[in-house]
Amino acid sequence: MIEINDVSKWYGQFAVLTDCSTHVREGEVVVVCGPSGSGKSTLIKTVNALAPIQRGSITVNGIQVCDPKTDLPKLRSRVGMVFQHFELFPHLSVMENLVLAQVQVLKRSRAEAVERGLRMLDRVGLSTHKDKFPGQLSGGQQQRVAIARALSMDPIVMLFDEPTSALDPEMVGEVLDVMVKLAREGMTMMVVTHEMGFARQVSDRVIFMDQGRIVEDCSSDEFFGRPESRAPRAQDFLSKIL
Ligand code: ATP
Ligand code: MG
Repeated sequence: MIEINDVSKWYGQFAVLTDCSTHVREGEVVVVCGPSGSGKSTLIKTVNALAPIQRGSITVNGIQVCDPKTDLPKLRSRVGMVFQHFELFPHLSVMENLVLAQVQVLKRSRAEAVERGLRMLDRVGLSTHKDKFPGQLSGGQQQRVAIARALSMDPIVMLFDEPTSALDPEMVGEVLDVMVKLAREGMTMMVVTHEMGFARQVSDRVIFMDQGRIVEDCSSDEFFGRPESRAPRAQDFLSKIL
């Protein structure tokens, strides 16, 4: 589904990603963790070309992400992304937030977009809030709307960048529950998170990054089950957050 081959990226002289290679199979949930500044956000942003790369190649479902001929708006419409800050349009109702890109990018009829939007809101448990504005919702609810909005586009893969780290602690659970459900339903997911409970519960693989390199890429059972075999940096990191 996602192939990342020998990807390197620099900001001027600074190597933000160095020779990163990994893959995500269909239906797989891969958690990306590592210290602040290690390149996690940059790595997942390369997948939908939000972060251009200087070397290597990336394909999503066979589509060459870095080929200048690739239709990026189309690619991005199929690669759902949810960030730390919810980034809903504040002046649009929940439903209008869900309808907009479906109509503009996928050229769906309004009726079709509303119907699909309602189904996705139902999936995240928020259909009764469809006429509210983002400012009238809690942070956890806004983040669930952001997930529903991404799902309305029929993504083939979902990218999450610390979707719960800006939330008050009591709201983290409701967002993680939605993500667990998505994972169980077979969504292909790449998730940057420090929520190791989530990682342990639903991830198939864990990637650990340090200074722009993937220093660990193994099954989640291996990652959590065999601490002695982990890279020292990963051991150190885990001992601080577990
Ligand atoms: P965090 O856990 O804090 O979110 P991260 O692992 O997601 O960190 P990135 O955001 O990918 O890290 O950033 C990796 C490195 O690249 C950091 O050192 C950061 O300062 C640097 N960086 C990111 N964006 C830019 C930019 N636009 N220009 C220059 N340097 C950048
Ligand atoms: Mg980040």
